[in-house]
Amino acid sequence: MSRCPLCGKIIRWEDLIEQMLILENFRELLKDKDAFLSALNDFAFKCPECGEEFYGRNLNLREAEKVFELLNDFDGSIDYSSNKVRLKLTNLLALDLMLEEWDKKVKGSR
Ligand SMILES: [Zn+2]
Repeated sequence: MSRCPLCGKIIRWEDLIEQMLILENFRELLKDKDAFLSALNDFAFKCPECGEEFYGRNLNLREAEKVFELLNDFDGSIDYSSNKVRLKLTNLLALDLMLEEWDKKVKGSR
């Protein structure tokens, strides 16, 4: 779950990534995890709730890594012609974390 560091409201990753699509080399960034993360760290995002700007380094890095993987796992995850993220990233992340928890629980009870 990513929140705005200023107002504390939850921001969907779809919205964050859509803001990053203005980067001309975004497609290139998706091929290189380190490049993607460093671009994300230095990107000035605008909170859709309060309108304030903050840097990507304030976001959850672990989620950012998962987002990178999800965007790469699914073909056509981004519609470049309309600059839209087709994947429900926030939902997928929640599911992913839930499965991880489940996995831990199962392993822990053995
Ligand atoms: Zn905010």
